[in-house]
Amino acid sequence: MDLDALRADLEQVVRESEATIVALNAEETDEDGDIVEDAAAEAADFTENDREEAMVDAAEARRTEALEALARMDAGSYGVCVECGTQIPEARLEFRPEAARCVADQEKFEENEGQLSR
Ligand SMILES: [Zn+2]
Repeated sequence: MDLDALRADLEQVVRESEATIVALNAEETDEDGDIVEDAAAEAADFTENDREEAMVDAAEARRTEALEALARMDAGSYGVCVECGTQIPEARLEFRPEAARCVADQEKFEENEGQLSR
């Protein structure tokens, strides 16, 4: 596992999320961005303000996940599912470097969270 590359990816996620948050907060009217498309799609029925709020929430959640992943990297526990302790497949980490859980536990987590769109 190339931790340096994954760390660079995570730092990129943090920067992009912060840029998204700043851009959304700065502009009242929508400029579309390459932002968390699932959240944007789910929010399509919301009013404009609710939609932007949902996008800010999604960006903040992603930023937090990336920062937590960087903290796990520093602690030496990166890449291990926080729920069951199994190694998260490298392909999953490359696709989603901020992943804190294996796929099965992530699905359970999202069912419980309900309102958290991603
Ligand atoms: Zn797990």
